Amino acid sequence: MIDDSALVQIVDSAVARVDKRWINCKPGCSHCCIGPFVVTQRDLDRLRRADPDPAIEARAEEARARMREDFPGDWTTGIVNGRQDTFDEKHKWLPCPVLDLESGSCLLYEHRPLACRMHGPSLFVDGGIVNHCRLNYAGATQAEIETARIEIELPPCDETNALTYIAWAFKQP
Ligand code: SF4
Repeated sequence: MIDDSALVQIVDSAVARVDKRWINCKPGCSHCCIGPFVVTQRDLDRLRRADPDPAIEARAEEARARMREDFPGDWTTGIVNGRQDTFDEKHKWLPCPVLDLESGSCLLYEHRPLACRMHGPSLFVDGGIVNHCRLNYAGATQAEIETARIEIELPPCDETNALTYIAWAFKQP
């Protein structure tokens, strides 16, 4: 199994090759931190290693309570085993518990999930296109977006890929 820091390094170094002319991501912009999206158990382990502030744990508990109804899987473990689109749409205004709503910054930035690291630019990950943030590539043609696309091939790490949501990183056993 690949070491987590090596996996993060693969993603971060690929994203660092993105042509910055097209990227408007900046501190305080947090569109991508509102609304739930699935992450992996490995992402949860990384967030737990950050030793989060009790305020994050409290927000995560509140988020889990709000997500209880119609949860697309096992709400106790947080593991998802059904379709998430209707559920994600229902909670589209629920902020990530790690987001500081005043500053718009990620409070556990160094420990953030891979999905957060890869959101924003135009990417091709494991053979699939990752949609870029609509605030990036302003004025770019489709051809320019495709030319700018960076390819990332992730090493296999199936044993930690059960999907869940960030709020479960801070659930006490
Ligand atoms: S972990 Fe950080 S970057 Fe990811 S959604 Fe939450 S606040 Fe945003």
